Amino acid sequence: MAWDFETEPEFEEKLAWMRGFVREEIFPLETLDLEYDQMLRVIRPLQEQVKEKGLWAAHLPPELGGMGFGQVRLGLMHEILGQTALGPVVFGNNAPDSGNAELLAVGIEATGREDQREQWLQPLLDGKVRSAYSMTEPETAGSDPTLLRTRAERDGDEYVINGHKWFTSNGSVADFLIVMAVTNPDVHPYQGSSMILVPVDTPGVEIARDVPTMAHPETEYGRFGNHAEVYYRDVRVPAANLIGREGEGFTLAQMRLGPGRIHHCMRWLGQSKRAFDMMCERAVSRTAHGGLLAEKQSVQNWVADSMAEMHAARLMTLHAAWKMDREGAPAARIEIAMIKFYGANVLFNVIDRAIQVHGALGFSCDLPLEQMYRQARAARIYDGPDEVHRQTVARRTLKNYAPHEVPSEHIPTRREEARARFTEMLEQVTANL
Ligand SMILES: Cc1cc2nc3c(=O)[nH]c(=O)nc-3n(C[C@H](O)[C@H](O)[C@H](O)COP(=O)(O)OP(=O)(O)OC[C@H]3O[C@@H](n4cnc5c(N)ncnc54)[C@H](O)[C@@H]3O)c2cc1C
Repeated sequence: MAWDFETEPEFEEKLAWMRGFVREEIFPLETLDLEYDQMLRVIRPLQEQVKEKGLWAAHLPPELGGMGFGQVRLGLMHEILGQTALGPVVFGNNAPDSGNAELLAVGIEATGREDQREQWLQPLLDGKVRSAYSMTEPETAGSDPTLLRTRAERDGDEYVINGHKWFTSNGSVADFLIVMAVTNPDVHPYQGSSMILVPVDTPGVEIARDVPTMAHPETEYGRFGNHAEVYYRDVRVPAANLIGREGEGFTLAQMRLGPGRIHHCMRWLGQSKRAFDMMCERAVSRTAHGGLLAEKQSVQNWVADSMAEMHAARLMTLHAAWKMDREGAPAARIEIAMIKFYGANVLFNVIDRAIQVHGALGFSCDLPLEQMYRQARAARIYDGPDEVHRQTVARRTLKNYAPHEVPSEHIPTRREEARARFTEMLEQVTANL
């Protein structure tokens, strides 16, 4: 049996290079306020360096140019990349493109539809096209996707799609959308929903607007990272645009979401650590009421609690990744659900405490904390709200328990049973007294 909290020295070298590269080369770009397309030009040489190091799109299997690292190593990489929003873009694994590439890859593997690799997957991997994932609808609860209303009806060699989606991240800058739609309303949605690739310029696709959010209240249309509202009205696409097999939409979604959640959680830890470092730096720098903030008990509590929570979240996430590597994503359902809500709350709490320690400066836009805080709030909602993940953990855990009219630990009952079982021994012991 092996218990190990270390990484191989060769991989540790890669992580060390990444730490330096992200801090020295990527952090400074955050402050330049460049448009996304300008930023893309600026980061291109950095992306080349990442490719030379063999770390580009590392989440992919080796046959697609990835490194086959497995989730534990990928998680450790995402912890470094997550410190800055630009990190995943420079390393070729920004959401939703990375997840969508995985979906396409899994679908192609299942169906052998190589034309999809050439037409969509390879350009996506090369960063030549952009994608979005279009599942959530304003009229139905996204946390219960069995309620999906968007329909895709087969008509000869085509699917005809009708529906209304929103929060399709990057929809307004994407070249294609992966749409989750009901293809067979007569069976349970888990067997009757499919994913279909829709080029964004297909007639009937209307990107109605980018929804302003807490993270970007005054967003301009067509910005990278926006969340689009999309109408699909009699949108006709070839049946060959189906990803995987018909009716397998939810199976594909599960495959995509498992690793994605590990990466999210590790990126949140990178963000948390950055906020934590800011909090500690301020605590040892600022004096009030006769001493450093670091000497006040409330601040010490925040430092200690944050440290403990981040450590717990890190161990939980790496354990979930380890289990996924060994036993596959379905076996790690509870662990993945636990880290999703636990990690999102750790992120939120650590940033909140860091803001508090900085006072007005923390609330100001002179530090990245206010922006991190607004972004962090969404982590408790996207990829399923906290409550749903808690429910998954509780439901699956409770399955291991049977009802007992009298609690199995009821002391008087246990005493009676123990007396009956040990009658003879008790008689001997009492007689010897
Ligand atoms: C920043 C961001 C990016 C996103 N990107 C995408 C994307 O790219 N593509 C996409 O398709 N979607 C995306 N989404 C949508 C996201 O997946 C949904 O918001 C999420 O699934 C929740 O669905 P909903 O918003 O409809 O909330 P609802 O389903 O209406 O839930 C609202 C609230 O109800 C409560 N609730 C729900 N179920 C339960 C339960 N079982 N027990 C207790 N309480 C419950 C929770 O408090 C929950 O927050 C994104 C969302 C955000 C915020």
